[in-house]
Amino acid sequence: MGHPRLTATIALPPVRGTLKADAPLAPLVWFKAGGAAQWLFEPKDADDLSDFLAALDPGVPVMALGLGSNLIVRDGGVPGVVVRLGKPFAKVTALDATTLTCGGGASGILVSSTARDNGIAGLEFLRSIPGTVGGFVRMNGGAYGRETCDILVECDIVLRSGARVTLSNADLGYTYRHSTLPDGAVVVSATFRGHPGEPAAIQAEMDRIAAAREESQPLRSKTGGSTFKNPDGHKAWALVDEAGCRGLQLGGAQVSEKHTNFLLNTGEATSADIEALGEEVRRRVREKSGIELEWEIQRVGKAK
Ligand SMILES: Cc1cc2nc3c(=O)[nH]c(=O)nc-3n(C[C@H](O)[C@H](O)[C@H](O)COP(=O)(O)OP(=O)(O)OC[C@H]3O[C@@H](n4cnc5c(N)ncnc54)[C@H](O)[C@@H]3O)c2cc1C
Repeated sequence: MGHPRLTATIALPPVRGTLKADAPLAPLVWFKAGGAAQWLFEPKDADDLSDFLAALDPGVPVMALGLGSNLIVRDGGVPGVVVRLGKPFAKVTALDATTLTCGGGASGILVSSTARDNGIAGLEFLRSIPGTVGGFVRMNGGAYGRETCDILVECDIVLRSGARVTLSNADLGYTYRHSTLPDGAVVVSATFRGHPGEPAAIQAEMDRIAAAREESQPLRSKTGGSTFKNPDGHKAWALVDEAGCRGLQLGGAQVSEKHTNFLLNTGEATSADIEALGEEVRRRVREKSGIELEWEIQRVGKAK
């Protein structure tokens, strides 16, 4: 199948969780397109992950996967090991009146609802971002004027070497939709801080955010969220619109009519269609406005 030579030559260390060869990633990402992981590893706990990485040939690449809500997996698949944090990493617990500790695989909805139940305000924006804590920490996910760097106290990560390290907010070098989290590192938990609030008021803010989302974004589509970062002083969606790309199609991929910074898989798109459409949009925007759009969506793996 996908990566026969490596599969044959590399013996993988034992695990307590699950480890699958040639595991299709399309069902695990929002675009529902793309190839397979050479190996997909769902660790049982942080020690399982750490022991596995410490024993793994250092030449084998490692990548973390959340809910795949900001990801194009290319059609030739992802060489090496893709680490997906499942149930054992999906817990969220209040530490005190303002702080929560969250597993790296916990969803934004779970984090914001647990904050509400414990009277912790300021995390409502996570209600609207369909990713995991690990994805938020890496991408500095944000919405409605707040970003992960506004709430992160620290995070526990497992480095590619297997070493376990705690990084503070300042260690992550946060800028817009970017962190300096080392390549191959997996965020296994994070501590977020808000401020005391009334659960009813927190719920009302979550409802307001959810309704605003529903109105402006294609939430029930095969998509990857915001495709391009907003360039300084500009909105990416407006530049895409002005370049005449609203509804533009390439193969099975289309620029959303509802929100022009979203690309859609209209049915049978390959990841090559989606990426080529993104590049065509960048070309047209450059031609129209002279502005170079930068991908926000992470593109991983090999072309077919
Ligand atoms: C409908 C829709 C709306 C969206 N709205 C927003 C929005 O308002 N604001 C916003 O910021 N984003 C938005 N996004 C994009 C996306 O939800 C965020 O970027 C989110 O942070 C990605 O989380 P994920 O867990 O799904 O990561 P993935 O998409 O699975 O991965 C994204 C990156 O994070 C890395 N990663 C994932 N988990 C870990 C981990 N445990 N440790 C280390 N690295 C990890 C991956 O390797 C990859 O580099 C939207 C997406 C969709 C589909």
